[in-house]
Amino acid sequence: MSIMVPSTTPALITPGRQALDSALHQLDRAAEHLGLDDGLRTMLATPRRSLTVSVPVRREDGRLDVVQGYRVQHNVSRGPAKGGLRFHPAVDIHEVTALAMWMTWKCALVGIPYGGAKGGVAVDPTGLTTRELERLTRRYVNEILPLIGPEKDIPAPDVGTDERTMAWIMDTYSVNTGYSVPGVVTGKPTTLGGSLGRAGATSRGVQIAALAALGRSPEGVTVAVQGFGKVGGPAAQYLADAGCKVVAVSDVSGAVYNAAGLDVARLRAWAAESGGVRGFHQADELPREDLFELDVDVLVPAALEGAITEANAPRVRARLIVEGANGPVTPEADEILAANGTTVVPDILANAGGVIVSYLEWVQNMQAYSWSSGDVELKLRELMLAAYAEVTATAADRGLTLRQAAHVIGVSRVAEAHQMRGLYP
Ligand code: GLU
Repeated sequence: MSIMVPSTTPALITPGRQALDSALHQLDRAAEHLGLDDGLRTMLATPRRSLTVSVPVRREDGRLDVVQGYRVQHNVSRGPAKGGLRFHPAVDIHEVTALAMWMTWKCALVGIPYGGAKGGVAVDPTGLTTRELERLTRRYVNEILPLIGPEKDIPAPDVGTDERTMAWIMDTYSVNTGYSVPGVVTGKPTTLGGSLGRAGATSRGVQIAALAALGRSPEGVTVAVQGFGKVGGPAAQYLADAGCKVVAVSDVSGAVYNAAGLDVARLRAWAAESGGVRGFHQADELPREDLFELDVDVLVPAALEGAITEANAPRVRARLIVEGANGPVTPEADEILAANGTTVVPDILANAGGVIVSYLEWVQNMQAYSWSSGDVELKLRELMLAAYAEVTATAADRGLTLRQAAHVIGVSRVAEAHQMRGLYP
C-alpha cells in the first residue's frame, strides 16, 4: 500500500516520486524552449483527472486484502486518454502520473489522436493465483468504470498485465454496458478483436528505432538488453534477427553473457521454462548491475524507471541507448551520457510501437474490421520512421538531444491543441 509523502522529505522519496520529478523536469525544459507561459505550463504539469481507488480482493484462503489502484488521465486535448495498466508493488500515484504524462507526449509525438493516461495497482501479480488476479482486475475495472470507454480512456497492457488482463477488462466493461465493446481496451487476444502484431509491437518499434539510430549495417553490432519480459524478450529477438549480436540479457533472476552472442530463441525458451534467464547453460553469469557497464554498441533498458542514474551513467560504455522502458534514464544520467557522447533514443519515441499498434487496434475495433499483419507492420514502420525523422531533424536544427527534441515536439502539439480549443468557460 502506498503512502502519500510530501516531496520535501528526501528519506521518503519513492521511485514513483523520482519518476514524476523526471517527467516534470523534462516538461519544464521543453516548455522553456517553447516559451510557454506559466499558466499553460501549470496546466500541462497537472493531470486532468486522477482517481485513487481501494480494491478489496478475496484471497483463496478466505482472507480479504485491500490494495490501492489508480487511473490518471493526464491530458485529453488531442483525443481520448490512452495508456497502459501496471500491476507492480512499487506503483503509487506519482509513478502513475509520470507514466500518464509520458503517454501524452508519446501519442502527440507519433501523431496519433489520443491524450495520455495510465493505470496502476500496487500489487505483485506473481504472488496471486489466476482467480485472485481475475477478481482483482474486475473489481479495479469496476471502480474506475465511469472514467473508461472507447471514446474516453482506453487501457492497454503494461508491466505486470497482459492479453488475459485485457480480456477481463473488456468483459467487465461489456457486461456492465450490456453489449460487447472491444474498443475499450487494446492489447486484447485476437479472438476478442485484438490486432495482429500488437503483442510484439513495442519491441518491433524498439528494433526499428535502434536500426534507424545505428545508421549502419546491424551485422555484428553488439547489444545488451536489461529486462527480458514482454518488451525486452522480443526486442532481443528482433535485434538478433536483424543481424545484431545480443551478448547480454538480464531479468529479475540475474544476468547472462556470451561474447559470441546469445542464442536468443533458446534463451527465451529457457526463461519461459525456468522462470528467468539465470542458469542458461550457453552463457556465463554476470552480476545484474554489470550489464549497464559492458563494452557494447547498443544498450536497451527494457524494465522499469530509474535504471540508469548518476551512479552508473559514468560507467556506461555503449554509444547508443534505446529506451524500451518508460523513464529508464534519469535527467542527471541524461546529462552525463550527453557529455560522454552517448546517444539516447528516448522512451516516448523508442517504445511508441506499442501504443501505435494499440491505436491501429482501436481503429479496427471502431470499424469492426481487421487488417492483415502486413498492413499493421507497414503502418507501424511508417509512423515510427516519420517520428524518428522529425525528432532527429528537430534535434539537429535546434541543437537539442533526441529526448529534448522529442519532448519539444510532443509538448508543442499538446499546447497547440489546447490553445486552438480555448478555455471553457
Ligand atoms: N504500456 C505501453 C506504453 O507505455 C502501451 C500503452 C498503450 O498501448 O496504450 O506505451
